[in-house]
Amino acid sequence: MSIDRIAVVGGGTMGNGIAHVAAQHGKSVRLVDLSDDVLDKAMATIAKNLDRQVKKEILDEQARDATLARIETMNGLEEGADGVDLVVEAVPEKAELKYAIFQTIDAAAGPDTILASNTSSISITEIAARTSRPDKVIGMHFMNPVPVMKLVEVIRGLATSDETTKTVSSLAEELGKTPVEVNDFPGFVSNRVLMPMINEAVFALMEGVAEVEAIDTVMKLGMNHPMGPLGLADLIGLDTCLNILEVLHRELGDDRYRPSPLLRKYVAAGWLGRKSGRGFYRYEA
Ligand code: NAD
Repeated sequence: MSIDRIAVVGGGTMGNGIAHVAAQHGKSVRLVDLSDDVLDKAMATIAKNLDRQVKKEILDEQARDATLARIETMNGLEEGADGVDLVVEAVPEKAELKYAIFQTIDAAAGPDTILASNTSSISITEIAARTSRPDKVIGMHFMNPVPVMKLVEVIRGLATSDETTKTVSSLAEELGKTPVEVNDFPGFVSNRVLMPMINEAVFALMEGVAEVEAIDTVMKLGMNHPMGPLGLADLIGLDTCLNILEVLHRELGDDRYRPSPLLRKYVAAGWLGRKSGRGFYRYEA
């Protein structure tokens, strides 16, 4: 099955990146979010990121304009899901929110439409069980920033069919990404390994082992990581990190995944990282 028309639900950090990359590769994209304000902001971000690609000579101006023209924005979920080949959901990492969205899009989409989630940690099997088409529900976990990062973790729920997996992996390749198939366990591979490291860095900060810059510099220069764990947490969003750690802690039932109290405090204060202007670092508007 070829995927030509894609609806992306949620135009935040990840959703605008997914819409950007899909449109850049010739797909007709509907970007769905709650309000015109959020959608305008998402389109402005996409335009800014396309301009950056033009400056770096990755794209020419004509391709930039054609990419923007292939993205349509809307705020109705049902309207967005109707008549597309694939829906990619990228709303906040809250299980009940995702379940409700999948129920709505399952009712609105045609019978052959594949429903994918960009979730970082929530069970694809549990999302799929709330729809009438568990064989066509799959995880399509893009990395941040989507236009730059090569990986798509393709997560098979218990009932996901081989055909759905093949279609989504082929699409990822068409979008210039490398798909890696993994099974449905909390945090999959990426966040099962990454989040305990970020959490440990926050514990180290909280316990006064070292300052923010020192922790990040140790990991950058000592372990050859391109970013330190605290800078990376700011990029991901501290609320997203906390939500993922809560899923790992609850679902794996092991206290080694308990979120650091300092991470909880930052999120409670609205210090969410780059998207709010302040996290472990401060960011210009
Ligand atoms: P975000 O908070 O930046 O964006 C979420 C968007 O969803 C917002 O624009 C919000 O208005 C919109 N939204 C909320 N409810 C909605 C609804 N009912 N209908 C339509 N839109 C709605 O979040 P994000 O960082 O883009 O994360 C989205 C998903 O991607 C999460 O599941 C997250 O775990 C996952 N993810 C995040 C990263 C990352 O680095 N941030 C990386 C990989 C995967």
